[in-house]
Amino acid sequence: MYRSLRKGNTRPPLWFWIALLIAVVGAFAVGAYLFLPQARSILSGDYKRLMTWLGDSSDHQDWDIPAQAHCGRGAMLFPTEGFIGFDRGDSFRPGHLHSGFDIFSPAKQEGATPVYAAYDGYLTREASWLSTVIIRHPDFQPIVNGAQIWTYYTHMASGDGTKSFIASAFPAGTYDVFVRAGTLLGYQGTWSGDPADPVGLHLHFSVVKSAGDGSYLNEGFMQNTFDPAPFLGVVLGEDGIYTCLSQSPN
Ligand SMILES: [Zn+2]
Repeated sequence: MYRSLRKGNTRPPLWFWIALLIAVVGAFAVGAYLFLPQARSILSGDYKRLMTWLGDSSDHQDWDIPAQAHCGRGAMLFPTEGFIGFDRGDSFRPGHLHSGFDIFSPAKQEGATPVYAAYDGYLTREASWLSTVIIRHPDFQPIVNGAQIWTYYTHMASGDGTKSFIASAFPAGTYDVFVRAGTLLGYQGTWSGDPADPVGLHLHFSVVKSAGDGSYLNEGFMQNTFDPAPFLGVVLGEDGIYTCLSQSPN
C-alpha cells in the first residue's frame, strides 16, 4: 500500500480519505474536550480575579464570605472564611474538571483560618489522610430528597506536609464520629500532596455523592459531586463572583 501511494500514479482509495477524515475530526474532538474547559476558565477571568484577591484582599472585602454564614436558602453553613476563587467545573489542566469550591482565605499565613462542619453528620478521616476529612449526611432532605450525601474538606496541612491542621479531636483513623454543623474541623493550609508544589492558601470543599453500598464516591471526578452552590445558598453574579445574601428572619 505504501509503495503504491508513493508511486503517484495510483490514487489512494476512498477508505483512505474516510479514515483520514475520521482521524482529523477525532483529533479535534479530543483536543476540544481536553483544552476547551481550561481555556474557558482562563478567559472567564477566574485567574485574574484570584490574582487580584491574593494580591490585596482588603480592596475586595465584598468578595469575602464569613465562616458559618447562613446564605440565601442554603441548608449548609459556609464552611470557612474566604472568596470562592474557583468554581466546580473550572479546569486547571487538560482533561481535568474541578469538583468543588476553592475558598481562599484573606489571611496571609496557613493554619490560621478555621474550617467548620457545614452540616450535622458523621465524620471520617481515613488513616492515611493528612489534610482531609469527609462527613456523611444520611437522609439529607433539601435538594436530594432524603438521599445520603457527603461533604469533603481538604488542604488542611502545611505546604511542606510536616504538619496537619486538622483539629486534634479527629486523629487519622477516625470513622463515622457524629459532629454538629459548626464543629471546628481544622484550619486552611497549602498542602497539595507534593511538598515541592504547594497550593495557594484555601479550603477545597465539595458535596459528594454516595456509592450504592453507602460509601462515598471518588470526589476527584466532577460527575461524582453536586454543585455546592444551592447547598450553601450562595449565588453567582454576572461579574463571576459568588455572594452570600443573608437569610431573612421571615
Ligand atoms: Zn479545589
